[in-house]
Amino acid sequence: MSLKNRQHLLGFTKTTPLTLSSVDRSRPAIALISEHGDPAAEVGKEAAGGQNVYVRQVGEALAALGYQVDMFTRKANPYDPEIVQHSPCCRTIRLVAGPQSYISRDEMMPYMPEFVEALLRFQTKHSMTYKAIHTHYWMSGWVGMQLRRHYPVKLVHTYHSLGAVKYLSIPEIPAVASQRLAIEKDILENYDCVVATSPQEQNDLRQLVSTAGNTQIIPCGTDVDNFQVMSKPVSRQTLNIDPQDKVILYVGRFDQRKGIETLVRAVGQIYAKGDDASLDLDRLRLVIVGGSDPNQSDGQERLRIEALVAELGITERTDFVGMVGHDRLPLYYSAADVCVVPSHYEPFGLVAIEAMACGTPVVASAVGGLNFTVVAEETGILVPAQDVDAFAQAIERTLVDQLWAQKARKKSAQRVLTYFSWSGVAQQLSDLYQELLAEPRVSTDLLPAKMVNFRVS
Ligand code: UDP
Repeated sequence: MSLKNRQHLLGFTKTTPLTLSSVDRSRPAIALISEHGDPAAEVGKEAAGGQNVYVRQVGEALAALGYQVDMFTRKANPYDPEIVQHSPCCRTIRLVAGPQSYISRDEMMPYMPEFVEALLRFQTKHSMTYKAIHTHYWMSGWVGMQLRRHYPVKLVHTYHSLGAVKYLSIPEIPAVASQRLAIEKDILENYDCVVATSPQEQNDLRQLVSTAGNTQIIPCGTDVDNFQVMSKPVSRQTLNIDPQDKVILYVGRFDQRKGIETLVRAVGQIYAKGDDASLDLDRLRLVIVGGSDPNQSDGQERLRIEALVAELGITERTDFVGMVGHDRLPLYYSAADVCVVPSHYEPFGLVAIEAMACGTPVVASAVGGLNFTVVAEETGILVPAQDVDAFAQAIERTLVDQLWAQKARKKSAQRVLTYFSWSGVAQQLSDLYQELLAEPRVSTDLLPAKMVNFRVS
């Protein structure tokens, strides 16, 4: 069905005036809440990754479908504007809750009651009423439950990361863990619907969180107009990369759980093996894309990785490019022979589908959403997380077997176009919201008392 027909069915007016500075009150208004993932932030740093991209892209795509979309986040910098208008009827609203500075996710929960109050004040001041609220990450999920105490609203949640899974893979469990696990369970059991971004995530929810509550699988997406197959020679020329080089690419944050160490050790191992007839080792080039701040933990992780690169003797063949915007990222994906996603865990993993959309084969850890996006042996190779030998073999195979790489290139791009475009994702979300809105109104007293009464001590 065309966008116009769908808008008509949903009751949106065709003559709605669209200006960049106003709210369109004739449209159904929905709120997206993303407490730490500022949709207007620069992505690629510790505090900004897939969640920021997801919320921003979904917000804009929902606005294009005819909604008024307000995306709420915590204000983390006094110089950031309170409201950023992204496109007609889609804006980011930054609420003051706690200090206007960076706060790690594990320390942010105490400021959430203030966030709820600020959001309610904004709604009153601007006379905004939301029919549905889609929350992102567990703290926003808690905020959603508090808001439903004040007015009836349909609640949809996307976890982005699950404590129950994360805590299995980290050595030190933070103090906030028990609170997070309890809230994640309450969200699943009390929300109108939880969106799992892959069958694997849905399975984790059922196995590790609760068997109660509604879930629906709607994947993440990518901007298929931006990430698309481009000429490799042209991309390399633009980026000043030798046409003969074998380029291994990493894109993402500097975080230990992203597994950059595994990738670097795998490349070191390919080198250590020495020359081989099928691969000219002098041509190997490891390109690492991602921002870091020397004063944050991502800066420390980058230093650790740089030291490892030096220890393995591959400094000459490794480029740390820094943060790259989505406008130039397609060049990097297109210039690469293989994109490696070595995460210890990944609920979805946007980088894999961005690379695939550009026709670049992916070697990824067989974890979480990567098991869903990457089709083993067709669009890439899946190997056990943290298995250096397996990563080294899979990377080498992708670089050497040109015929297979060529086939993977075509299948990857096709898979993304078919399943993972933002407009397709937004359409599925819109269908879900409409389905929920058609159901009888919710009562405001459905919440368990412990959620309602939560206060910071
Ligand atoms: N990203 C970017 N520039 C960079 C590094 C990363 O734009 O320098 C983007 C990347 O393109 C992707 C997002 O950050 O859209 C990372 O999302 P993913 O789901 O792979 O990982 P997360 O950060 O959510 O763990």
